[in-house]
Amino acid sequence: MSTNDITAARHELAAARRCVVLTGAGMSAESGVPTFRDALTGLWSAFDPERLASREGFAADPHLVWRWYAERRQGASNARPNAGHLALVGLEARFEQFAIVTQNVDGLHTRAGSRDVLELHGNIVRTKCFAECGVRIDDPRDLPPGEPPACPRCGHWLRPDVVWFGEMLDAEVLERAERLAASCDAMLVVGTSGLVYPAAGLPSLARAAGARVIIVNPNPTELDDLADIVVRDTAARALPALFAAT
Ligand code: NAD
Repeated sequence: MSTNDITAARHELAAARRCVVLTGAGMSAESGVPTFRDALTGLWSAFDPERLASREGFAADPHLVWRWYAERRQGASNARPNAGHLALVGLEARFEQFAIVTQNVDGLHTRAGSRDVLELHGNIVRTKCFAECGVRIDDPRDLPPGEPPACPRCGHWLRPDVVWFGEMLDAEVLERAERLAASCDAMLVVGTSGLVYPAAGLPSLARAAGARVIIVNPNPTELDDLADIVVRDTAARALPALFAAT
């Protein structure tokens, strides 16, 4: 592993034909979207994440959980894609196959203009029925009143369409992410601590299939040991630099 080798990273990307980018909360930090830990400051610091992001927590206090997500949804809607998101849009055309697999729920990759984005953990803007009757509301402007609102079909609560602690990921999305990881020749891993599975398992799948793994993160991560190259910088600084001369 070599650190900060942006030139080597550019060469690896230039030689690749199939590229997968795995992103986490750090990707959006420079857009002002707090990482999970940062989102638990101030008023919310007294709460345990599992109380705010689990079925059990929602069932125990749906009003509290709805309010926390409503605040984060507003924050994500107000945020704008940063130079890192935009650089990834520019990178797309350089590969035969290019996809972004994100753990983020803020929708910023799609809003930046990236075309193939797999949202492993859902999307905070969307809402679905807690009782899983099939109702999904994509636009917050279509939400019925209430905190949380009642499902227009079955009358149960509506909840954010994100994956909570203890919940399964969408099987089709995960399978596609695994197939892409196992068939790419370069994987760029940006702004993820590598602690949350199954997303954190994708770089080892790529590595086992012979891909080069490049990490972009200002801090050490659980995945550094399996990377070929680690770029110790932020997403909004490093990604445009990688793109500039690839
Ligand atoms: P994490 O909070 O565990 O880790 C964030 C990582 O980003 C850290 O490794 C940190 O060093 C790095 N980082 C911080 N600033 C950075 C920057 N400017 N550029 C690049 N990297 C930077 O995040 P995670 O690994 O994504 O896991 C947390 C879970 O929380 C995920 O499941 C995700 O779904 C969810 N989440 C999503 C959002 C969002 O949608 N933006 C925000 C918070 C949490």
